[in-house]
Amino acid sequence: MKPSHTRQREYPVVKITSIPAFENNYFWVIQPDPAQDVVFVVDPGAAQPVLDYLHRHQLKLGAILITHRHNDHIGGVNDLLRLYPVSVYGPRAEAIPQVTVYLDDKDQFVLGGLTFHIIAVPGHTWEHIAFYLPHQQMLFCGDALFAGGCGRRFDGTAEIMWESLQKLAALPDDTRIYCAHEYTLSNLRFALAVEPDNIDLQHRFLHVEQLRAHQQITLPSTILLEKRTNPFLRCQEHGAQVFIKSHSGENPATAAEAFGALRAIKDSWPA
Ligand SMILES: [Zn+2]
Repeated sequence: MKPSHTRQREYPVVKITSIPAFENNYFWVIQPDPAQDVVFVVDPGAAQPVLDYLHRHQLKLGAILITHRHNDHIGGVNDLLRLYPVSVYGPRAEAIPQVTVYLDDKDQFVLGGLTFHIIAVPGHTWEHIAFYLPHQQMLFCGDALFAGGCGRRFDGTAEIMWESLQKLAALPDDTRIYCAHEYTLSNLRFALAVEPDNIDLQHRFLHVEQLRAHQQITLPSTILLEKRTNPFLRCQEHGAQVFIKSHSGENPATAAEAFGALRAIKDSWPA
């Protein structure tokens, strides 16, 4: 007799593709069911690359998802809405009047059979949110966390941004990270300056260098990889502490202070 057990629920297989745009942006396309022609786009900073993509693959736009107010993330929304009057999911902010479904920290919504969890990640900008798909272990985090780095801190304190990054670092190790820019190689150059002896980082750098030599995308990353190689998640490590001390003369008392000091050093670091 077969042992009785609860059958694990099967979640849809989601297809994720990137639309490269501008110098180094990615607009992410989420296709919840590859057998259907409806897709969602995250942070369309321009309409034309999205329209070209939809046309080329014979797809329809079903919704727009916005992480934060910067123009390279929202610049295409108006033109897309003219052709596709869809819902726009995003934070409540004056600068993003196109949002029709306001999202706050810990909100959840279901779209195309997918359950999205909202994680507020203020710091790069105050209203910044990330879209997390727990069943698929996917994270769309805009400019909050990058592969090997993080966004600049435009709004709020270092403490607030550090806490935001800690929320993302606490997600399951396997979570795939779809951030909005191809900054990985230059981020890892800085990371190597911070932690030259980090073996995981050395390996990652060589791998990313090869990918970029062939103009290939370096994303998605994973939470585990970031915890091992991203200096902004490793502010408490000895290497980072030594680096901060030697470059700023500071001896940060807390992880948040160390993060703030490291972010400030990176801001004036040659790309
Ligand atoms: Zn931004």
